[in-house]
Amino acid sequence: MNKDDLTDLSLLRLDIVAAIGIRDSLPDMIFTAHLMPEGALNLTEIAAPSNIYQFDMDFASFINALEDEMERRRTFAHDKDRERAILISVSSRPRHEQEDSIEELKDLAFSSGLIVLDTAIQRPKEINPRFLLGEGKLKEIIINAMNKGVTMLIFDQGLTPSQIKAIGELTELKVIDRPQLILDIFSQRAHSRDGKVQVELAQLKYRLPRLTGKGTAMSRLMGGIGGRGPGEMKLEIDRRRVRDRISLLERELKKLSEARRQRKQRRINTGIPIVSIIGYTNAGKSTLLNALTRSSTFVGDKMFATLDTASRRLRFPKEREVIITDTVGFIRDLPDDLMAAFRSTLEELEDADLLIHLVDASNPRFEQHMASVEKILANLNLNAKPQLLVFNKTDRLPADEAEFIRMRFNAIAVSALDPSSFRPLLDAIETFIWNSKIAEVTV
Ligand code: GDP
Ligand code: MG
Repeated sequence: MNKDDLTDLSLLRLDIVAAIGIRDSLPDMIFTAHLMPEGALNLTEIAAPSNIYQFDMDFASFINALEDEMERRRTFAHDKDRERAILISVSSRPRHEQEDSIEELKDLAFSSGLIVLDTAIQRPKEINPRFLLGEGKLKEIIINAMNKGVTMLIFDQGLTPSQIKAIGELTELKVIDRPQLILDIFSQRAHSRDGKVQVELAQLKYRLPRLTGKGTAMSRLMGGIGGRGPGEMKLEIDRRRVRDRISLLERELKKLSEARRQRKQRRINTGIPIVSIIGYTNAGKSTLLNALTRSSTFVGDKMFATLDTASRRLRFPKEREVIITDTVGFIRDLPDDLMAAFRSTLEELEDADLLIHLVDASNPRFEQHMASVEKILANLNLNAKPQLLVFNKTDRLPADEAEFIRMRFNAIAVSALDPSSFRPLLDAIETFIWNSKIAEVTV
């Protein structure tokens, strides 16, 4: 073995490392350690030290055999294009809250098209400010990640710029946090010019303070998930250009918001009542809008499948109609920057005569989802708007359980997949709109 082999191999990948002891200025013992394939008892194996002059190992064939074995043991489908992630949560919140939150992060990761290979939860007495979690635990996770062929670490907690940098110095893996994952999902889902501008703005604002450092950690961060990032601006971008871009986008947004206001005004002038479907992401808002109006707003089995609001006409008997609009999904712990960016999208709701708060009754966390939606509505000063509480996906529940939940919350139950379940909802909309004062003004 010569020295060059060692440097080549360790640069290539850190599957194996070796250290050579020196005694009396001469090489003495050699120590080697290598990763173990998945499923092995230990994550790494440390070989017995050997005298350098007796050491005889064919590194190239050893490492090839090791990598073949690792590849063979990997449990995921060999989908090379998709990012594979380990989710990490470090928190001193109550355990059930931490577990709920990481479950939700899993849903978000799935929405973003990632494969989640493992989760790691740490509950330290004190949070390590440098890496968020203990250095030993972090290194263990990194080794586990290399064993599994993971490409990305996702933290459930927001990381400060210096934490991202410090963690990036320990690993070549991409490191992102929850807000970035949400932004990434938004960026995949934005369709209109308006939506795209808002998402890019939010991404740039989130990244700007994280652009202070140099080195690979920052360039990886700029790459975003799967190399997606705002436009063509990647590694070479500097803060100045980011700021220029931000002011350009802000000007564009102002123009777009004026156009939106005019569209809205035209709609109000027609005097047709507006009903907006709101609710936690994945509640089934787009599905319900489609089914109600048999239109074809984009529906996906992924969170945030709709980013932009979509409006459709819904006709009732006796020449009556309402405009029904679909909104972007709400989400707990929406980062402030994101909240600001999406406020203008949600401003649409100010013109609604009635909000339909749609809840996925089949989600075990539906009460938390309801609370999150109420909180965001309060932030937008919309909590005084008339609301109909509607439980969706009741087809997934036993009939008596669906009925129990409906009664408990004095709500309406539907299945967006089954138009025969819509009658109570349509009756409630009709009664509300045409028996109330708003109707006297608008009809
Ligand atoms: P949104 O984020 O609230 O707009 O949710 P979507 O309308 O995109 O729906 C999310 C997922 O839930 C999709 O896969 C839908 O097919 C599914 N879904 C929506 N409504 C129902 C329902 O009533 N029953 C069942 N079983 N699935 C539903
Ligand atoms: Mg939707």
